Amino acid sequence: MTTATIIDGKNFAARLRASIAGHTAQLKAAHGFTPGLAVVLVGDDPASQIYVRNKGLQAREVGMNSFEHRLPATTTQAELLARIADLNQDPAVNGILVQLPLPAQIDAQAVIEAIAVSKDVDGFHPLNAGLLAVGGTGMVPCTPLGCLMLLKDRLGNLAGQRAVVLGRSNIVGKPIAALLLRENCTVTLAHSRTRDLAEECRRADILVAAVGKAQMVKGDWIKPGATVIDVGINRIPTPDGKGRLVGDVEFDSAVQVAGAITPVPGGVGPMTIACLLLNTLTAACRQQGIPAPEVKPAAE
Ligand code: NDP
Repeated sequence: MTTATIIDGKNFAARLRASIAGHTAQLKAAHGFTPGLAVVLVGDDPASQIYVRNKGLQAREVGMNSFEHRLPATTTQAELLARIADLNQDPAVNGILVQLPLPAQIDAQAVIEAIAVSKDVDGFHPLNAGLLAVGGTGMVPCTPLGCLMLLKDRLGNLAGQRAVVLGRSNIVGKPIAALLLRENCTVTLAHSRTRDLAEECRRADILVAAVGKAQMVKGDWIKPGATVIDVGINRIPTPDGKGRLVGDVEFDSAVQVAGAITPVPGGVGPMTIACLLLNTLTAACRQQGIPAPEVKPAAE
């Protein structure tokens, strides 16, 4: 029995960040300009605090300016919109990210739509979603972009591949499906109402799981040799009470069948922040009227 190649997203993301750091330094040397990323956190959700800290840390590590805006959980929608309006106007800020989820009193969609399209480095603004759908040049959401980079690194040209995406959220499933369609895959977008889910998955040369259900996809759902991208991040209980992170794919059975697979953790996860930095670099160049560089991961 063969076992799948493990796609090392942690290593790929580190090489991508190294390359972004090089391009950021070049931008500074040639144009005297440093990209800036503003991250806005409302409230004190512990997981969000860790994400925001990591985003700031990694932005600084690649030589960008990082602006962290921590607002209390009681912040009103008007106050948050006012902060976003300020950031939209601030020339030092090239990318704006509002950490989700937001407290109940705030309408997340209204907040997303208030971010300037050119600074929407999460790619969640409806105009950027529309540009992705019609094949235009917008901002591509970070996790989907990371998945695509891993797939292209593994498979090269994706044209003609049968791709099944499990999950149709606006931030993961739908943009991944749009990206794969743009790469000329034949795409099936599956969800909770899909009939014969396992059978749909078995047809996939490329299977992307983004459902948020721990270990739902079993080894016998996978076509032998398929490339499996596991976006899911789920914490399951362990006897020591600490819990353990697993994906949406049952790794131990899948690894026996797939040709290649991303692990959880260490697969798609690290790509998300690396792609956020890439989007910030791209946004900064576009705002300055400088051609955005084609960023490839640094050599091993
Ligand atoms: P959502 O909850 O927004 O969407 C889940 C999708 O999965 C929905 O489309 C839902 O279908 C579908 N679904 C749920 N249950 C089933 C089922 N039993 N069978 C088939 N389809 C099902 O989740 P997200 O898209 O935000 O996130 C998905 C996963 O990815 C989560 O584990 C999340 O933690 C992870 N994630 C990881 C990131 C990373 O950096 N690696 C970044 C973002 C998310 P329907 O629409 O019909 O309800």
